[in-house]
Amino acid sequence: MPSGRPLYLAGGSLYRKAFSRMSRIKRILVTGGAGFLGSHLCERLVAEGHDVLCLDNFFTSQKSNVEHLLGKPNFELIRHDVTVPIHLEVDEIYNLACPAAPGHYQYNPIKTMKTSVIGSINMLGMAKRCRAKILQASTSEVYGDPEVHPQVESYRGSVNPIGPRACYDEGKRAAETLFVDYHRMNNVNVRIVRIFNTYGPRMHPYDGRVVSNFIRQALAGEDITIFGDGEQTRSFCYRDDLIEGFVRMMAAPDDFIGPVNIGNPGEFTIRELAELVIELTGSKSKLVTRPLPADDPTRRRPDITLAKAKLGWEPKAPLREGLAETIKWFRSIDVADYRAPTP
Ligand code: NAD
Ligand code: UDP
Repeated sequence: MPSGRPLYLAGGSLYRKAFSRMSRIKRILVTGGAGFLGSHLCERLVAEGHDVLCLDNFFTSQKSNVEHLLGKPNFELIRHDVTVPIHLEVDEIYNLACPAAPGHYQYNPIKTMKTSVIGSINMLGMAKRCRAKILQASTSEVYGDPEVHPQVESYRGSVNPIGPRACYDEGKRAAETLFVDYHRMNNVNVRIVRIFNTYGPRMHPYDGRVVSNFIRQALAGEDITIFGDGEQTRSFCYRDDLIEGFVRMMAAPDDFIGPVNIGNPGEFTIRELAELVIELTGSKSKLVTRPLPADDPTRRRPDITLAKAKLGWEPKAPLREGLAETIKWFRSIDVADYRAPTP
């Protein structure tokens, strides 16, 4: 038995399955586990004592996000692309692998669609074979530029299927379809979480998302780039609240598969966000406007009634506090260490 690991962590065995049925300790696969949300999820699951397999192709992330976990006996890092099948033995799967920022998912839109669709098929196949529970990290983007506000899970969305965001939005919609069909056809134990804009330490400083752009620009004293008139809104959820939502959804009763919105219902205009970032950083940066990207949603706010009722979940971190933590982290890193995405 290498590395003195307990026997129950040793391999894909009947022993492990029997053990995990008796125990709270599970073997959990996190795809996209080296990314912003994935790395925090891995950290939480490792701290809870689970045997965590982090799978990532490092398209939009770097090893440094999980470096601190590498020495832990219950953490393993696998460089792999979810579009290629892989044989693992697991009890639970969190399927997060997918570029999330517009600049990242538009870098290679065909690959983005393959990641959501083929990646989901591969992970659902694994869940079916292992009888594992599987959670899909879906997105508020399935609502597109919504006509219903705030967005409830029953709203079917308004997505442009041929626009520049479609590779992500339609990929995630197709993934939801696959999850529900594997559940209906094969009785796979699935969960779907629709994530609304989430921010916090370990966001990629150059992912082009609004929170990372504004903080990086403010700290460097550069102009803060507001796309359009800045009156479009978003609702920003702090990463700790989001991770708590993930874990609660995975632990929810089997008859609740979602989709469930996980997000912070506090709604801010992009201009308000810029002003708050300037205040919290004490920056002298100026606000400048740039053209609004195509299909940019006008407003977005989750209705979280379902999450409250079914999961007893609601976010705790106000934007001001979450941003202060995020700014502290941005001050502690050298943004030059973060490379642009590579295929
Ligand atoms: P991220 O880019 O930091 O993480 C995604 C991870 O997936 C990265 O580590 C990347 O290298 C990996 N990845 C991408 N393609 C892959 C592939 N083909 N095979 C294996 N690994 C691959 O983004 P994030 O913000 O941590 O997002 C995580 C998940 O949550 C994504 O599925 C995203 O769509 C979803 N989500 C996030 C947000 C948000 O605001 N952060 C909002 C909605 C949905
Ligand atoms: N945005 C902006 N300046 C930036 C980056 C983004 O004004 O430097 C705007 C963007 O047009 C959108 C909002 O901020 O209206 C949120 O953008 P982000 O890319 O973070 O997420 P998404 O559009 O996917 O919600």
